[in-house]
Amino acid sequence: MSLKGRVAIVTGSTSGIGLGIAQTLAAEGAAIMLNGFGPADEIEKLRKDIAGKHGVEVRYSAADMSKPAEIAGMVKAAHDELGGVHILVNNAGIQFTANIEDFPAAKWDAIIAINLSAAFHAMQAAIPIMKEGGWGRIVNIASAHGLVASPQKAAYVAAKHGLVGLTKVAGIELANSGVTANAICPGWVPTPLVEKQIDDRAAKDGRTVDDVRHELLAEKQPMLQFSTPEEIGALTVFLCSDSAKTITGVPLSIDGGWTAG
Ligand code: NAD
Repeated sequence: MSLKGRVAIVTGSTSGIGLGIAQTLAAEGAAIMLNGFGPADEIEKLRKDIAGKHGVEVRYSAADMSKPAEIAGMVKAAHDELGGVHILVNNAGIQFTANIEDFPAAKWDAIIAINLSAAFHAMQAAIPIMKEGGWGRIVNIASAHGLVASPQKAAYVAAKHGLVGLTKVAGIELANSGVTANAICPGWVPTPLVEKQIDDRAAKDGRTVDDVRHELLAEKQPMLQFSTPEEIGALTVFLCSDSAKTITGVPLSIDGGWTAG
């Protein structure tokens, strides 16, 4: 229980990687502010399950990560209801694929808002609290697409490269404050965000989902296996540990070799 007494906000934690991170942090004793969309009864069940299984306080904020005022409200609620903000995991994200000339401007704006600007707004609200306590961990969930590009992902690749840049600035600015800021750059992780891309490609090409799943890995990852949300959670826990106190301002890949080549 290395994180007992710490309070963690995990944005976009009602599903996929964020949920895996919230569960892993809770298993280490951190109190959790969940966030994200979904049916109210399912979210309440998640909240109760995590709290019951790990014996920690778990709250939920419905803040929309495209709305700066709601982001500030979520950070304040964590501080007021859970007694602090020690760990901020900026994870909420969306995807849309099209060539640049066909990319709807509204989709560009939404992806930049949720995948990049939300992290800025959450950091702006959380950093003063972390600095006051002399300890903090900011973990930005970027992507292999924060380091390299793929076609048809203009907004996503731009946002994730931006998130890596924002992380570097925070690492330097916060260097002697007890607060670190790092980015995690996963390759493929089987979550609803990726399953949709697999289903879409299978339907478009008239192929089986298993075929497309293998093809997706083979296209990008020398290691032909997915990382799991729990593995991203374990890396987050490591970044929150005292052993990681001098790791700051870096993108850490967990991508089966995707960006090694
Ligand atoms: P997911 O679709 O399973 O989860 C996304 C979460 O974000 C959900 O909880 C959703 O409700 C929430 N969300 C979406 N829009 C929101 C908004 N406006 N306000 C608040 N919450 C919102 O996706 P995932 O695959 O778990 O992705 C999580 C993060 O990991 C994203 O930033 C994604 O870019 C990144 N990532 C995913 C992969 C992958 O292969 N799955 C790889 C690299 C990076």
